[in-house]
Order: sequence, then C-alpha cells, then structure tokens
Amino acid sequence: MQMKKKKIAIIGAGISGLALGRLTKDHDVKIFESQSEIGGISKVKTIDGVPFHLTGGHCFNSKNKDVLDFVFKEILPKSEWNEVTRDAKIHLKGKLISYPIENAFREMIFHWPLFGISALFSYLFAKGKKNHQNFDSWLRSSFGNILTETYFLPYNKKIWGLEPKEMSTDWLPGKLPERNLKNFLKSFLGFKEKDMVHSTFYYPNKGEGALIKALSNSLNIELNTKIKKIENIDGKHYLNDEYFDEVIYTGPLNLINQLIDCDASICEEIKKLKYNKITTCFWKAKSNDITWSYHPESDHFFHRHAYIGNFLREKKSNYRITECLGSISKEDLLKQKDDDLYELIDLHYSDYAYVVYDENTRGSVEKIKKFVKSKNIRLLGRFAEWEYYNMDICIQRAMEEADEINS
Ligand SMILES: Cc1cc2nc3c(=O)[nH]c(=O)nc-3n(C[C@H](O)[C@H](O)[C@H](O)COP(=O)(O)OP(=O)(O)OC[C@H]3O[C@@H](n4cnc5c(N)ncnc54)[C@H](O)[C@@H]3O)c2cc1C
Repeated sequence: MQMKKKKIAIIGAGISGLALGRLTKDHDVKIFESQSEIGGISKVKTIDGVPFHLTGGHCFNSKNKDVLDFVFKEILPKSEWNEVTRDAKIHLKGKLISYPIENAFREMIFHWPLFGISALFSYLFAKGKKNHQNFDSWLRSSFGNILTETYFLPYNKKIWGLEPKEMSTDWLPGKLPERNLKNFLKSFLGFKEKDMVHSTFYYPNKGEGALIKALSNSLNIELNTKIKKIENIDGKHYLNDEYFDEVIYTGPLNLINQLIDCDASICEEIKKLKYNKITTCFWKAKSNDITWSYHPESDHFFHRHAYIGNFLREKKSNYRITECLGSISKEDLLKQKDDDLYELIDLHYSDYAYVVYDENTRGSVEKIKKFVKSKNIRLLGRFAEWEYYNMDICIQRAMEEADEINS
C-alpha cells in the first residue's frame, strides 16, 4: 500500500531534527532553524583545519547496529571516518592517571602506595547496591569512599554546579560506567584498555561538520526562522500560517510554553527544570597523544580538556578544547592559562549544555511531556525530551519517531 504523504514541520536543525528529516524524506518535510547555521549543540567551526566544537568536544559511537548502519550506510560512509582508540586521563594529585579511575589502581599504587592500596580496599569493600536515594550514595556504593571523595565528588561538583547529594540517579544508566569487577580485574592484571569493550570511537576525517553537512543533504531547511507559536486551529497545526500534519519540536522543553498555551500547573513544572550553560575555549596548546582529560581540581575551573586535533586522521596535536561550567569572561579564562595552554584562539558560550537531574526532574518532565503529547506535538532530542542523550541516542529516537510517522 502506498504511504500517505504528510506535511511535516521539524523545529530545530540539530542532530535530532536533521536525522528525522532524513528518515522521513518521502514526506513533505520543512525544518525551521532559529540560528543562521545548522548543527545545534554539535555545531563546529573549523580553525587552522581543526574543528572547534562550540559546545565541547564530540565523538561518535553507538551500541545500536541500526544507528551505525544508518550513519555509515546512508549518511557518511565509514571510509570518511577515523576510528580512534580512546586514551583518556584524569588529573589526580599532580599526575595524569588513566580513565576510568577504577581501572587505574596499579598506577595509583605506583605513584602513592598508601593512598592506592587504601583506595583499592575501599573499592573492593564498597557495597555495589542497586537502589540509591542520590548520586552521592550511588558513587560511594559503586567506587568506595576514597575514590568518591578524591575524584568523583570534586569532578561532578564542577561539571554540574550542584552537590551530588542533591542529584538523582535517574540519568545514570548508560552514562557512567557501573561497578564492573571483571574489568577491574582485567586492568589490575595488566590488560590494556583496548582489550576491553567501548574503548574506541569514530570521528569524521574532516571533522564533525562533515556529519552535520551530510545529514542535511537534500533537506528543506529554513535558517534564521525562530518558531514563536504553534497554532492549533480545529485540531490542525499551523506554523507561520502554514498547515502541517505533524509537528516535531527539538528545542528546549523549558521553552515549550512560549510556543503553545500551557496550563498554570505545567508552567510551574517547567520552572523546576534545571540545566547548565558552558563556556568552551579553543586553544593552541602543548602537544599530547591523549584524547581527553578530566580535571577534578577545585583551583582549575575547566572540567575537561579535549585534545581534538588527535581525533583527526592527520593529527594536529597542538590544539585543545576546554570546557567549564557557566559563562566565564575572557579575562577570567585567561587567568587559567597555564604552561600547557599557549594561546586562546576562540571561545563560545552555550546556553544549553547539560540537563541537571534533581529529585523533581523526572516527575516534572513526565507531566510536561504528557501535556505536550496531548496537543499532538512530538518531542525529540536532548533538551526537548530533557534527557542526557548523546548524538547516537538522538538518532535512535529519530528512528523511533520516523517509524511512527511513516506507519
Ligand atoms: C559538552 C557536550 C559534549 C558532548 N559530547 C558528545 C559526544 O562526545 N558524543 C555524542 O554523541 N554526544 C555528545 N553530546 C551530546 C550531543 O551534543 C547532543 O545529544 C546533540 O547534539 C543534541 O542534538 P538535538 O538536535 O537533540 O538538540 P540541539 O542540538 O539543541 O538542537 C536543537 C535545535 O533547535 C533549534 N531551535 C530551538 N528552538 C527553536 C525554535 N523555536 N525555532 C527554530 N529553531 C529552534 C536550536 O537553535 C538548535 O539548533 C555532548 C553534549 C555536550 C553539551
């Protein structure tokens, strides 16, 4: 039977909107993007041939074969990608040790025998329970008090701007490695990380911009077009006076009440949603072979350095991207310049970077989503669904929405 062609409006040309556009291309699809460029959070600016990810370093991988097939077979052929071995490090007590920290006990014992052995015993005797009231207790139970207090708590306070005690654990599955005694044992016996799963990722040879460009191929995208209202007249959607059968919103959920009339109770739930902004800097820096490093130190406000030039097939190791919480002035950023960071080339402020989960988040998001669904508007993507989604999950979700739209 022939599929009925629908008129589809997608609000937002980030990874989610673009992927859905490609997956529904047999319909009459229009993508509205408020910015002058596509890409959303995954947007990239190329400087000296090196990609500056305006919202932090990005790499791609997926556990879902359908997502990998879609990306490598329909969007950007695998030959256009570089497969990179992850070599991530943690700055601890003035040394660089391997990530994940629970696989680096040998290094810790070598550098600081007493600390290393105490951390090891604290890890081995941690309870590894399943249910937790908050993120702090999850960390202690998964990794022991010593690693939690030395690394996990200070690092997470920096990235979230919130005490882990005040955070829920709803977002953790699939995001943070769980306690895994098998991996611990392998690493303790001296196996390298490359022998373990998920230790590689993909990066386009020409930078992330190549993925975004390839996704947008043949799509009808209206740039500089901010959708201010979704009108619903007699059960039909109108955007800028144009009728659509389907409307998919990929912008932030906490702005949905600007687009549709929401009940007062929904507006109250929206007010409870917390999220983080970040400042991203692009530096000319000391060369290093690693892929990224985590910084728990409280006197250093960057929480992560991405050695982005090392993601490329033809490495350019002397460039780095740093990320830090909030909107920090250039003057203050330069105060953090150390012997490794030579020159600040560019910087970018991102309004939406991380969803922050506290005890209210899950309940509020469910109520808002239910309300939006009752208006026959689909929500898709990281901030529209208010979930800690990576690009692969955005694509997976786009596939699920496309299946429903196409059926
Ligand atoms: C620091 C950081 C590092 C990350 N690293 C990785 C990584 O290594 N690997 C990975 O896979 N993922 C990573 N991610 C996650 C990834 O960036 C996101 O999952 C993905 O980019 C989200 O895409 P999206 O399309 O859902 O949302 P967005 O990118 O936010 O796109 C939404 C779009 O909608 C537009 N818009 C909003 N409102 C309107 C409106 N009213 N009218 C018109 N347009 C509108 C916006 O301008 C935007 O372009 C990272 C994220 C961050 C913050």
